[in-house]
Order: sequence, then structure tokens, then C-alpha cells
Amino acid sequence: MLRQVAEGVLVHESEFVQSNGVVVRGRAGVLLIDPGVTGSEIDCLANDLRELGQPVVAGFSTHPDWDHLLWHARLGEAPRYGTARCAAAVREQLSDADAKARIAAHLIETEVAGQVPLDLLGLITGLPAGTAHVPWDGPQVRIIEHQAHAPGHAALLIEERGVLVAGDMLSDVLVPMLDDGDVATAIEEYLTALRLLEGVAGDVDVVVPGHGSVGGSGQVQARIDLDRAYVLALRNGQDSADPRIGPSAKPGWEWVSDVHEGLLRRLAQ
Ligand SMILES: [Zn+2]
Repeated sequence: MLRQVAEGVLVHESEFVQSNGVVVRGRAGVLLIDPGVTGSEIDCLANDLRELGQPVVAGFSTHPDWDHLLWHARLGEAPRYGTARCAAAVREQLSDADAKARIAAHLIETEVAGQVPLDLLGLITGLPAGTAHVPWDGPQVRIIEHQAHAPGHAALLIEERGVLVAGDMLSDVLVPMLDDGDVATAIEEYLTALRLLEGVAGDVDVVVPGHGSVGGSGQVQARIDLDRAYVLALRNGQDSADPRIGPSAKPGWEWVSDVHEGLLRRLAQ
């Protein structure tokens, strides 16, 4: 079911890790950002769009993780964009013939085993480096590219609507997930990305994280502050009093504490 969060901006929430797909209405159809996870959910989204009489005229993947790269034949054949670095990372992932089999194997351990359509995964077109806005016929959508969480990660600012689509940052349930590789570098990249988002926070009335709850205007700066405090505590080797981990984690999200413990182990190496 689509829920309007601002004029012409609708969110489709998945049961899997509270993933948010975002629909932006344009002049001749919609821009669809990170469509969703299971085949039946994406099917439901396609039905909603048909009822609205809105074809998908463009797609966008915020970053090169499988849960943000999915598509379904019923959504049509509009161009699907990502940053150049995102597209390059996807190409590299998929150059390995076993990549999709590995994703499917990983999914076997989750509640969505066998329900995720992988056929059209990752067929995205990289926009030239430095592209400022998503090329489409609708409200201006600014691309804020950074390297936190994953290479070529983009947050999208729907300028006229005051909506920030944050990708896998600014979640109320997930702590910052650092990119693979050197942890110290990943921490600095995360702090840089938070500064970029802070630079637009004053223009944001609604923040939509890739996973978690949609937040209102007061939430944008609060979530930036929370993510920054978490990352700084990691950098400084301090205990984190983050409400998203430990006993204060939301029911069903206890596994986030395990992710945190894993990060602490990476840091200790
Ligand atoms: Zn994700």
C-alpha cells in the first residue's frame, strides 16, 4: 500500500527490514526509488501505480546492495539509474557468474527465501560522475553522492517537496553500517556523508530512510546527530549509548546489536 508523505511523494513499506520504496509523481509518470524486496510486494506496488494511472518513467537505486537493486517486469522498462560508482560496483558484482546464486543462498536464511525476484537485479545505468539531478520529467531530485555505507551511495533530495530519501543512513532502527574494507577510512567517509546531509537538513521536512520509519522535520537533524555520535564513539573507542542497540532496541531488531558487536571486532583487528 502506498502512503503519501508529502505532495506527490509516496512510500511503499516492505515487511522485510522495514524497507522503503519511494514513488515521486512527475508529469507523465513516476520516478521509483529502490522499489522493494519480495515479488508480491513489488507486484502490489505495480497494482497501486496502475490504479493511479501512473507508469514508471524512471528508476533509481540508491546504492549497490541487492535489496536496493531489484525490479519486476510489471514495472516496465524505464531507465534505471544510479551513480557511476554505484553502477560500476554492480557491474563488478555481477561479473561473477555466481553472484545471484550467492544472494539467493544468503536469502535462504531469511523470511523472504524464494520470494525475491533476482532476474532483473542490478540492470542500472550509471549517471556521469557529478550529475546534479536525476534526469526525468518531474520535480527536481538532487543527487547527494558520498561513499558512506557503500560505494557511490546517493541520497536524493526532492527539492520542491522537502523530502530527503536517505538510502541506508538516518534510520531510527539501524545503526550506521560501515562499508567493507578499512574501518578508519569507512568512519571518515561516514562523517563526510553526514556533513553533506547536514548541509541540506534545513530544507528537509520529511526524511525517508532505506530501512525504518519515515521522520518529520525535527527528525532529520536528530538522526544525523545520533548517527554521528555512534560513529564518533566507534572512532574514539568509547561505549555507545545508542538507543538502537542493547536493551533499548526495538522488538525484532535485536540483531542490530550483533552488527554493532561485529563492527567492534573489526575495529579491534
Ligand atoms: Zn538496505
